[in-house]
Amino acid sequence: MVDLQGQYDKISKEVDQAVLDVIRSTQFINGPEVKSFQKEMEDYLEVRHVIPCANGTDALQVAMMALDLKPGDEVITTSFTFVATVEVIALLGLTPVLVDVDPLTFNIDPRAFRKAITPKTKAVVPVHLFGQCADMEPILEIAREAGIYIIEDTAQALGATYKFSDGTRKKAGTMGHIGCTSFFPSKNLGCYGDGGAIFTDDDDLARRMRVIVNHGMEVRYYHDSIGVNSRLDSIQAAILRIKLRHLDQYAEARQAAADYYDYAFSNNTRLLTPKRAGNSTHVFHQYTLVTRDIDRFGLQEHLHAKDIPAMVYYPVPMHMQKAYIDPRYHEGDFPVTEALSKSVISLPMHTELNDEQLKYITQSVLEYVNR
Ligand SMILES: *Cc1c(COP(=O)(O)O)cnc(C)c1O
Repeated sequence: MVDLQGQYDKISKEVDQAVLDVIRSTQFINGPEVKSFQKEMEDYLEVRHVIPCANGTDALQVAMMALDLKPGDEVITTSFTFVATVEVIALLGLTPVLVDVDPLTFNIDPRAFRKAITPKTKAVVPVHLFGQCADMEPILEIAREAGIYIIEDTAQALGATYKFSDGTRKKAGTMGHIGCTSFFPSKNLGCYGDGGAIFTDDDDLARRMRVIVNHGMEVRYYHDSIGVNSRLDSIQAAILRIKLRHLDQYAEARQAAADYYDYAFSNNTRLLTPKRAGNSTHVFHQYTLVTRDIDRFGLQEHLHAKDIPAMVYYPVPMHMQKAYIDPRYHEGDFPVTEALSKSVISLPMHTELNDEQLKYITQSVLEYVNR
């Protein structure tokens, strides 16, 4: 699905040197590379605070810990997401409230969000799924009216830009109270191990989250709150500094591949190409087709036999996962999510796809679909 080798080959000299420099410095934890990366990320996102941490799941957990939520408080998110979003809500003893998604963008449906709000609702986690922003303008408005926090899960959409109706533009993860991202190797900005970060413009929330990621410790060995140990290590920060400089160009390469796929499948009524929302750029973490009347796993097998990876993100909605079975929810509750989980398939999407590969992939897909 990704070509990390091809991407590394192009920056290997710089990366090897940077990694070696960190090793020679022996400043493995909270070294100058982490500070520099933090600053560069703040500049890139135009946000006041970036707090690096160990992974994207921790980012979400720390964000929720900083909001002082109590067991029983409700946090709204969608049933069509990666498990981490729902996992941390459950881990903290909060109540996940799931809502359906928009059938074309796969992102949280603002009307469903509004309907799910109760007096117990304390936060909403819009997930910018597959690389484009959820419809944040109405979400921000609804959340403001209801007095609830917004934590954006931008693990799949780092670098995407949302355009408000007044023309203002903001980067994914900088619109709500807190933004969370992941630097897992296959993410749009991936390191060579695990990594994550939290963003906020709120000075007080930033201070609380910096304390939480460091064992609840502001003054050394004095612990005023219960925290966690969640750090980005210096080697990963050094690699991320190099890759951050390429992030926009990486997005362009992904968009070019998506254009190729869109064009190749444009006349096929059994393959619905991913919609590009008018108010967000799309950084194509995934290129996801909705199939109609196609044996999707048959297509996947056909592609695998030709050495083409293809994946189903996500085959089981959250409310139908064994670990998250809940008497409040039943099959049929989220018809869009359920239909998508039965019909989507994602094609290879990365920064190194060339025309020859794209031709081979699209021809192979069409071969199966048209036979
Ligand atoms: C990858 C991902 C995460 C978790 O990130 P990790 O770094 O793997 O912990 C959270 N949410 C979404 C939507 C993701 O895609």
